[in-house]
Amino acid sequence: MDYQKILNEIYKEIKPFLGKGKVADYIPELAKANPKDFAMSLVTLDGDAYHIGLYQKRFSIQSISKVFTFTMALKMYSEKLYERVGVEPSGTPFNSLVQLEYEHGKPRNPFINAGALVVTDSLIGYYQDEFITLENILNFLRSISHTSDININPAVAKSEMDHGYRNRALANLIKDFGNLDNDPLTVVKTYSKQCAVEMNTWELATSMLFLANRGVDPIAKREYITPTQAKRVNAVMLMCGHYDASGEFAFHVGLPGKSGVGGGIVAVVPGKMGICVWSPPLNEYGNSYAGTIALELFTSKTGFSIF
Ligand code: GLN
Repeated sequence: MDYQKILNEIYKEIKPFLGKGKVADYIPELAKANPKDFAMSLVTLDGDAYHIGLYQKRFSIQSISKVFTFTMALKMYSEKLYERVGVEPSGTPFNSLVQLEYEHGKPRNPFINAGALVVTDSLIGYYQDEFITLENILNFLRSISHTSDININPAVAKSEMDHGYRNRALANLIKDFGNLDNDPLTVVKTYSKQCAVEMNTWELATSMLFLANRGVDPIAKREYITPTQAKRVNAVMLMCGHYDASGEFAFHVGLPGKSGVGGGIVAVVPGKMGICVWSPPLNEYGNSYAGTIALELFTSKTGFSIF
């Protein structure tokens, strides 16, 4: 299949949709994004990469980071992790507090903010230090993306903290229910930093390879998680990766995927490739508007949906 030709077609067909939707503006750093920016990368299991648009321009990965911290925690804690966080779709927005109250502080899944905070808390518990935790998250990202200079944008991290009252509320509520081991503020700080990591579509598509290949990076030949764990991460991405629009994403795109409010979406074609698309304006659910359409075009043209 001629992947470059397919991407070029998508690039043409996506043009009318660029700029539609709304760039995240809950912090000034994200509001500065150019609504017309767009990029898409495919990286196959043998390392061949295909791109359109601004594939070397880094952006804020935001909630895409939740896939990586969940992977790390699953490796550390295995099934025990599910005592603290579930794997069911929430049907609620990413930052909702409501469900957490009536479900007694156990978040539905690791990809809503509540669940991601519990996962980050579990990492801090493992490393026993917030800064060592962050360094290990960054090192994991450097390793799976084959890029040594992955870092956080400190201005974004600071801004997340300046405005992150809802995340603090979530962390405090979880703490009150006894499902957070560390100080809530420390957990929110570390979570805000992981959200403030910057990567481009090439690096993020490469980072999906181990999930497309049963837990093993096919290029570095390194096993990160077991095939069963990789199956679980992909399943949770499919069911929960787009919050209360996860059903719609499965319906239209049909791949495990995870979005972030920076406008990025990663997706996995099991046995074939990692994908990342980026377009900052979001739909009403906080997922990239044009990015979702680009992925739907991709699975329609290639037949590469898992269904
Ligand atoms: N930093 C954002 C938050 O916690 C991430 C949310 C997202 O990307 N959906 O609110």
